[in-house]
Amino acid sequence: MYHAIKERVTELLSTGEVKGFLALKKDNGHIKPHLYVSPDEIDQLSIGDGETAGDARYPLTKILTMLLQNHSGEPFGILARGCDQRALRALAAWNQISLEQVVVIGVACSEELARACNCGLPYPDEWLEGEQIEPKDPRPVEWEAKSPLQRLDLWRAEFEKCIKCYGCRNICPMCFCKECSLESEDVVTKGEIPPDLPMFHLVRALHMIGRCVDCGLCEEACPASIPLRALYKKVNDIVETRFQFRAGIEQTEQSPLHKIAEPPAAI
Ligand code: SF4
Ligand code: SF4
Ligand code: SF4
Repeated sequence: MYHAIKERVTELLSTGEVKGFLALKKDNGHIKPHLYVSPDEIDQLSIGDGETAGDARYPLTKILTMLLQNHSGEPFGILARGCDQRALRALAAWNQISLEQVVVIGVACSEELARACNCGLPYPDEWLEGEQIEPKDPRPVEWEAKSPLQRLDLWRAEFEKCIKCYGCRNICPMCFCKECSLESEDVVTKGEIPPDLPMFHLVRALHMIGRCVDCGLCEEACPASIPLRALYKKVNDIVETRFQFRAGIEQTEQSPLHKIAEPPAAI
């Protein structure tokens, strides 16, 4: 299976075009991320097809960011779904990676995976395996139908379930800060569970404005099943309406708030 991808990765590794190729591997029945460094290993490559959403997806772009930052100037390859491609673009826009160092092999998600992720764009620009599945409108309409006070009560109840494990931040490709505000005592009181309501979650939501690529990994990782994606979709819907901007959709575009933060030109 996945002959076209395996052939291309073999070529990349054999010619030295990349130092390693980041993808998935099936090991003892489990899918996990793996950095392929030799063509001899390629038979083990998997795209996670047939697995559940949580088993088929990993924050490969987050791992790639660390690799690139620790191997200055060296090229790496990555297997990228639609969400991974958006993350790569957004990371480049935020100067975390250079796309010149990255060789992308695209894969379109299966219908089963795209539906499980409620994905609005389940394929990259180009792909070697998979078929184009019609995207769904991923907007959380059930929240929109509620009054502001009802929403406040619902979110409060959700946030009270938070155990402050930082899983949402740790898995997020766009949480790349060396120092995180969520660990600052000025923002979040140490030793309190649930964390300060609603500060912890609103700070993260604000930081995801113009950054979140709607990969859904945070929500998948959350042990308290808090519908985090709905929150980030909401703030990014506002950005899209006001500024016609979605993170990761355009190759090198930075968030409009990033642009606004630039000092005005001297008069
Ligand atoms: S969906 Fe969650 S994990 Fe993915 S980019 Fe947005 S905030 Fe980060
Ligand atoms: S939560 Fe905010 S400060 Fe913390 S890593 Fe994410 S973007 Fe950076
Ligand atoms: S992953 Fe869920 S429980 Fe953990 S800090 Fe984030 S919101 Fe809270």
